[in-house]
Amino acid sequence: MTQTIGWIGVGSMGHRMSRHLVAAGHRVVVADAVSTERAPQGATVARSNAEVAALAGTIILSLPDGHVSQAVAREIAGAPSRQVKTVIDTSTIGIAAARSCAESLAAAGIEYVDAPVSGGTAGADKATLAIMLACPEATYERLKPLVSLMGKPFYVGPDAGQGQAVKLLNNFLSATALAATSEAIAFGVSQNIPMQTILDIVNASTGRNSATDDKFPRRIIHGRYDAGFTAKLQLKDIKLYLENARAAGITDEVADTVVKVWTEMDRALPGADICEMYPYTRDGRKKG
Ligand code: NAD
Repeated sequence: MTQTIGWIGVGSMGHRMSRHLVAAGHRVVVADAVSTERAPQGATVARSNAEVAALAGTIILSLPDGHVSQAVAREIAGAPSRQVKTVIDTSTIGIAAARSCAESLAAAGIEYVDAPVSGGTAGADKATLAIMLACPEATYERLKPLVSLMGKPFYVGPDAGQGQAVKLLNNFLSATALAATSEAIAFGVSQNIPMQTILDIVNASTGRNSATDDKFPRRIIHGRYDAGFTAKLQLKDIKLYLENARAAGITDEVADTVVKVWTEMDRALPGADICEMYPYTRDGRKKG
């Protein structure tokens, strides 16, 4: 059944994800504080977030961080003549911010669904994102057909923040794999072993991970460094992981080191793609 879906935040992820809803025949109403130039063709552009809340029963957010999601949740909750009943937040914002959004919206009778995504802009383009939903099970079943237009939905649990927890731990693992693999490959290459040989062996062995079977063979070995995800954005996620893991009383030695390594890399190469961790490790860190 086609519905009117609101979309707030048509940035790198949002404009790609919202396109699939238009393609499936939904009426999509978008707003963005900076520019709606990337709104998908066929979508209606609203003048404000409040106008989206007045026009759509379900709103999807794709916003930069927790402060913005919380501010937008408050705007939606206070919007005059609002129709919205459900807000699905695909942003990465951490546990506390997700709970705070859920509280402000619940006070206005609106359900908040914590739904961070993984898979990057390529996954957003191809509608192959992993979408981690935390909400009551009945809500998950109701939203599944809509969310499936953008990727593969996973049910995490009933409480806002549980989706964030899985998203953050995933990005911590992915950032750790890339930093550790960069050190390991730099070591192997220093022993005059071709990178391809190392990757072939590791990918048939126990060291295989998302860096050895994806980023190195597809984006690093040929010097393209084009994951399309900056170290700066990744740092936001792993710092949130560290903060949330500490708050939960979980040991943080590895996470603490990984955050330090990525912080130094981001400082040395501002704006760098995450794949540049390899040349940085091979050259810069070796010299340092
Ligand atoms: P982005 O900065 O490109 O897009 C965010 C959009 O939100 C921008 O267009 C901005 O103008 C808009 N915005 C900011 N404040 C607003 C407000 N008050 N009202 C309305 N619009 C507002 O970010 P992105 O890369 O698209 O990421 C969006 C979210 O998805 C982030 O939380 C990010 O961590 C997460 N994420 C990103 C990726 C990725 O590869 N880029 C992957 C997975 C998850």
